[in-house]
Amino acid sequence: MKEQKILQIGFQGERGAYSEKAIEKLFEEQVVEKAPFRTSYAVVDALKKDKIDFGLLPIENSIVGSITHTYDLIMENKLFIKKEVIINIHHSLLAAKGVRLKEIKKIYSHPAALAQCEVFLRRFEDVDILPTYDTAGSARMIKEKQLLDVAAVASKKSAAVYGLQVLDEAIEDYPHNQTRFILVANEAGSEKRQENFLPCKVSAVFDTLDQPGMLYQCLGVFEKHKVNLTQLSSRPHKTEPWKYHFFVDLEGHAADENLMAAFAEIRKLTGFMHIFGSYPKFEGRVDSARSAPTKGKYPKKNGPLYSKDYKSEPSVIQVGALKIGAGNFVMIAGPCSVEGRHQMIETAKIVAEHGAQMLRGGAFKPRTSPYSFQGLGEEGLKLLKEAAEMYRMPFVTEVISVETVPLVAAYADVLQIGARNMQNFVLLKEVGKTNKPILLKRGMMATVKELLLSAEYILSQGNPNVILCERGIRTFETATRNTLDISAIPLLKELTHLPVLVDPSHATGISSLIEPVSKAAVAVGADGLMVEVHFNPATALSDAAQALDERRFASLMNSVNGMRKNMNEFS
Ligand code: PEP
Ligand code: MN
Repeated sequence: MKEQKILQIGFQGERGAYSEKAIEKLFEEQVVEKAPFRTSYAVVDALKKDKIDFGLLPIENSIVGSITHTYDLIMENKLFIKKEVIINIHHSLLAAKGVRLKEIKKIYSHPAALAQCEVFLRRFEDVDILPTYDTAGSARMIKEKQLLDVAAVASKKSAAVYGLQVLDEAIEDYPHNQTRFILVANEAGSEKRQENFLPCKVSAVFDTLDQPGMLYQCLGVFEKHKVNLTQLSSRPHKTEPWKYHFFVDLEGHAADENLMAAFAEIRKLTGFMHIFGSYPKFEGRVDSARSAPTKGKYPKKNGPLYSKDYKSEPSVIQVGALKIGAGNFVMIAGPCSVEGRHQMIETAKIVAEHGAQMLRGGAFKPRTSPYSFQGLGEEGLKLLKEAAEMYRMPFVTEVISVETVPLVAAYADVLQIGARNMQNFVLLKEVGKTNKPILLKRGMMATVKELLLSAEYILSQGNPNVILCERGIRTFETATRNTLDISAIPLLKELTHLPVLVDPSHATGISSLIEPVSKAAVAVGADGLMVEVHFNPATALSDAAQALDERRFASLMNSVNGMRKNMNEFS
């Protein structure tokens, strides 16, 4: 077997430097040799002399911006970019063991690190803040020279490497401080686009002729060829004062047709152009030691997870053997609240015998008044399970608090988020971490967009199984309990791949209206219905006026089945 060569990766800094962490992240499983160099210049020099295979250089920091020296180096040496990686940078203030903060007279670090901690360092009025070649190098110096009045701004890892103590941590000005590194090589290598290497980026540099509007014209070329520009920076030309090199990062591969056409056009417009290569765009997680307040970005460039742009096919949510969505219609029925064994079993019998596929019932009830029946809690969950098993149906029940998510999930097949909790974002995130399908009801004061963004909370936690439910919203009309927003159903079907159910019970609050309104919901394309049924509505502890008795439920099932049959025949 051919022995695999261990790659040598040069980086600027000492052991414990952030670049070392970046290499570890970039190569993850692969064993590579990390070679420290005092300067980035020395890394590039070693690369050119073939002493190392690749060099890792910091190119951009989220607080201080471009690392200009790296831009100059890749430009002057016409290096090729092979990969990029982004890591979180959390700085600590390190000193020799036993030293107290008030004894510190000098603080050393790399100038970029000092700039990232500018606000923290302001408080050290009588302390000299001194730039050095490296963060970890400053820590090493304290150790080797046994300095007792010196501190370093460096990584926590450097404290471990050089046996120092951490005087303070998380001292950077912003918690989401991140640095982007590039892996550079001396040679271009294969410039072919590998299909599995999507999405990629191309970095290039060009000069513009000294004429009005030249930069504008060059950027217009990218727009014309639909090339997304993700970064633009400039560096002085140096030999010709007040002339600039413009560096761009573009989405795509240099071998893509639109990029080739754009580059050909820019070449005609400019005096000089160089392409640093195409490389995979970093899309991995920027692991954070602390939770950073990152501004939400859609995880994929094709839009939010609920959208049809993200997923064009309708989602099918599987609950055991039952399928919901994409033409699989579901009828969910059962009491508003679980009141006892007798009520639960009698009601489950009715809904099962007339063809419902899923049982419903509230064990934890979100009641408007604290004096109304609050539900039987875990006892209710047990009764639901017993009834559901007896009639071989899965069941859905509402979860109203973060603490009870594990308990409810231990019993239920589907977790319901009720209208009153649609914007309980902490709860949404919590159910998003479970592997249970979620029935998300529209809040009574919520817009369609807000409903979809609440679904996004669940989806973004990794749970793809969300079913939406329109259950009426509050309007000036008080003759019905709520007003069913009938147009929201086909609208949602246009906007999302998620199944959309309708709850005519809470929408109307009046049992006689449930059948006609259900027919309307079926007609506009609902993927299912959820209705409240009680074996003896007059005795119901909650929502008695909207509970269907057996006769009404049977009639509803007949109508819905008849309509669906007709619709299927004519479609
Ligand atoms: C329910 O379905 O039990 C319920 C309380 O409905 P909503 O959250 O829509 O009011
Ligand atoms: Mn109810």
